[in-house]
Amino acid sequence: MLEVLNPATGEVVERIEPANARDADAAIARAKEAFPKWRAVEPADRARLLRRLANALDAEKESLAQLESRNTGKPIGDSRGEMGMVAETFHYYAGMPERLLGDTIPVSGGVDVTFREPLGVVGLIVPWNFPLTIASWKMAPALAAGNTLVLKPAELTPLTALEFGRIALEAGIPEGVVNVCVGPGSEVGRRIVEHPDVAKVAFTGSTAVGRGIMAGAADTIKRVTLELGGKSANVVFADADLEKAAASAPVAVFGNAGQDCCARSRILVERSIFDDFLSLMQPVVENLRVGDQFDEATEMGPLISADHREKVAAYVPEDAPVAIRGKAPEGNGFWYPPTVLAPVSNDDRAAREEIFGPVVAVIPFDDEEDAIRQANDTVYGLSGSIWTENGAKALRVARRIETGVISINSNTSVRVATPFGGMKQSGVGRELGPHALDAYTEVKNVYISTEG
Ligand code: NAP
Ligand code: MG
Repeated sequence: MLEVLNPATGEVVERIEPANARDADAAIARAKEAFPKWRAVEPADRARLLRRLANALDAEKESLAQLESRNTGKPIGDSRGEMGMVAETFHYYAGMPERLLGDTIPVSGGVDVTFREPLGVVGLIVPWNFPLTIASWKMAPALAAGNTLVLKPAELTPLTALEFGRIALEAGIPEGVVNVCVGPGSEVGRRIVEHPDVAKVAFTGSTAVGRGIMAGAADTIKRVTLELGGKSANVVFADADLEKAAASAPVAVFGNAGQDCCARSRILVERSIFDDFLSLMQPVVENLRVGDQFDEATEMGPLISADHREKVAAYVPEDAPVAIRGKAPEGNGFWYPPTVLAPVSNDDRAAREEIFGPVVAVIPFDDEEDAIRQANDTVYGLSGSIWTENGAKALRVARRIETGVISINSNTSVRVATPFGGMKQSGVGRELGPHALDAYTEVKNVYISTEG
């Protein structure tokens, strides 16, 4: 039996019979059978069904948020925001079935037109940090484009995905279109990646597992999109609004207890303001409210598991340069305090590896060129921020940082209507916005001769 825990208490929330490779085969077979019928649903009807699903998700937002918080330990306010985004994602893609436009291309001797066709069965493998949110970024465009799907949530956090399966059926999405399969990645995930009837795998998770997924997909030449790790830079120039930047920087890395692929886990600070900036950050970090996820005032919850806490703690050895430390509750939960390491060199392990916990490395830089060089000196390229009151400089630096997403004077990364994804070893492909539809469709080119 799979025991699903509440990370804030270590208590079992639910026991689930896990799926195995045979169950994955059965789920893929159901999705394959449902595909011809689902792709044949008229665009306007598919739009209507997705809109009904979006409305149902809106109606169940509070209960989904409660469940997500219980299973992940994240503050209830954060879960409410996330479940709002889940519904919004379905509302957005409900507008798409009728807008999957092709091209008309002038060629000699005839006309050439293109169609956007669904891929077939898509396998969606997601992590535990934003369980239903990340699943929705894949499911909504996949369904809008006419694909059927098998979703494999992380074993640590399967509860909202299972609820989603029920809600989709009740909203009228036909049987077999959405299949949720809860089981170990090494067995169920692997089977999805290798199965010849799965046309595409969309994966979010660690770079190490992503590498294996890319290799595993090679045998059947599957389409693959990957959203992987990050080590994003938060670049603070001396001419920034320092109060604003210092209030934002802790949120940008300690949100979701640092278990966020977009976490700005390297704060690059111009040397002339390095100490001032740390002083401004100190009260913000020390006053972060870490605790019970159902207390409305809580800003940071526990880590996802005891194993993960151990992994995070290993990045803060006894001789680590701990400059600021926040509070964390005692007790059975998997707690870890917000921790600021400073000064750190960009060559140190804490600056190079994704910690995926509430530990941040603060690194000095000399000038604009040095900031860009250090920001890019990483294998990752997912997110980041730039703080300066000089608009031209902000845009100049944004263009030169090798990252899929970057914000200026803000720590936000994700919007339903805009593309999200990584450069370098942070991944392949883009989710959200109209761009996500490219990942769930093939372009078919049809030539019509007009010669007499
Ligand atoms: P993970 O260990 O890579 O697992 C992600 C998913 O893959 C889970 O569902 C896991 O299943 C499954 N899996 C594990 N081994 C597999 C295999 N051999 N074949 C197929 N599937 C397999 O990642 P995680 O620990 O859950 O999440 C943390 C990581 O996700 C971080 O590195 C973070 O940066 C990354 N992340 C990236 C983004 C992004 O958008 N770029 C977003 C969120 C998280 P089980 O766990 O059930 O075994
Ligand atoms: Mg894992």
